[in-house]
Parts: sequence; structure tokens; C-alpha cells
Amino acid sequence: MIKKARLELLIATGNPGKIREIRESLEALPIKLRLLQEFFNVSPVKETGRTYKENAILKALTYSKQTGAFALADDSGLEVDLLGGLPGVNSARFGGEHGSNDERIAKLLAELSHYPNRKRTARFVCFMALAGWKRDGAGAQSDGADLLNVTEGKCEGAITHELRGDNGFGFDPVFRPRGYDATFAQLPSSVKGIISHRAKALAAMREFLEHWIN
Ligand code: IMP
Repeated sequence: MIKKARLELLIATGNPGKIREIRESLEALPIKLRLLQEFFNVSPVKETGRTYKENAILKALTYSKQTGAFALADDSGLEVDLLGGLPGVNSARFGGEHGSNDERIAKLLAELSHYPNRKRTARFVCFMALAGWKRDGAGAQSDGADLLNVTEGKCEGAITHELRGDNGFGFDPVFRPRGYDATFAQLPSSVKGIISHRAKALAAMREFLEHWIN
């Protein structure tokens, strides 16, 4: 009997927090997950898009072309209403290209320090893009990869006054999802893995992949 070849899918991000969440969501699928460091000569993709969607597509297509693998990319961010939706698509660079995560959180808390709880509303947004090759080859671009699917997810919540919890990454210690008296960094990963922006985008992508594999 010939064994059906398993789809190999590159998790096209270097962010360990994103990698963990993507892995947990897709691990039940018959897919071999690969990481960027397993490929040689891969140059980082500059996030030049104006939107999450543009950046997710740019990363998925470029990493797929560079590696010859199917690639799943995430672009996400935190939108704070008091800041007119910032840091948004620039969340990873809030306060400067080379700042640390602690500095980004400190800047955010300082900017909101005078505002009461009810005004501190915010949301996380995530777009995921999958690039690879259509099965019949139809529509394949001359330079390689096709865009196969884009999904999105949102999670409403609020920014706390101080850091709470040790789990997660990025702004997790200061984001309290609506309906919970705990931040993403205090909640178990199994809860974030259901209610978060990324969990929702991944659930839709998982459904697409399930059909696509069969
Ligand atoms: P990018 O998608 O690489 O542009 O970076 C997204 C940035 O948004 C991260 O570096 C975090 O600062 C923030 N972010 C996105 N998703 C999450 C999350 O699930 N938890 C905490 N911070 C997040």
C-alpha cells in the first residue's frame, strides 16, 4: 500500500508565542509542521503592508516562494480605542523599531494611566494567510506560490492598569478579554486557545485545511 504523503506546512513566523499557539491548534491534523530555522537562506520579510491582511498575505507568499513549502503566516495587533486604534498593525514596533516588549507595555500603560477602566477598551485582531500550490496547478503564478486562503479573528477586551500573569507573550499581561476577570497571561493556554483572535482565525484555517487535505 502506498502511504499518502503528509502535507508539510511552514509556520511562517519567528515569534515563539505565535508558533506555540499555531502548533497547538493544528497538531491534530495529519500535517508535518516545519519552522523557518529548518530552511537555509531565508530572508526576513519586511512588513510593508498597510493592513494586517496585506502583511499576512505578503509573508505567506514570500516565505512560500523562498522555501518551496506551503506557508502559514499570521499578522496581528492590539487596537486601543483611546489611542484611535493604535498600535494596531505596528504593535510589534510600538514606541520604536528596536524596543523591548517590556518597553512597549510600559509605554502603553503610561499613555492610558489617567483613564478609568470603562474607557480602556481594546481588541486583538489577527489575520492568517496560507500560501502554496493549487492541486491542479491551475492559476499558479509564474514565480511560484498561490494564495490559498485568508482567515481572521478578533477578541474584544480591555487594558488593565498593571501587568498580571506570566503566561503568553506580547501584550498578554495587560489584556483582559471581555467576560473574564483575568488577563490572557493569567488564563490557561487552553482558554486563550479558544477565545483569542488567533484561536478564531486558526479555527477557520483548520477547517479549510481539513477539506483541503482530503
Ligand atoms: P506582527 O504580527 O509580527 O506584526 O506582531 C504582532 C504584535 O502584536 C506582537 O509582537 C504583539 O506585540 C502583539 N500581539 C499579537 N497577538 C498577540 C497575542 O496573542 N498576545 C499578545 N500580544 C499580541
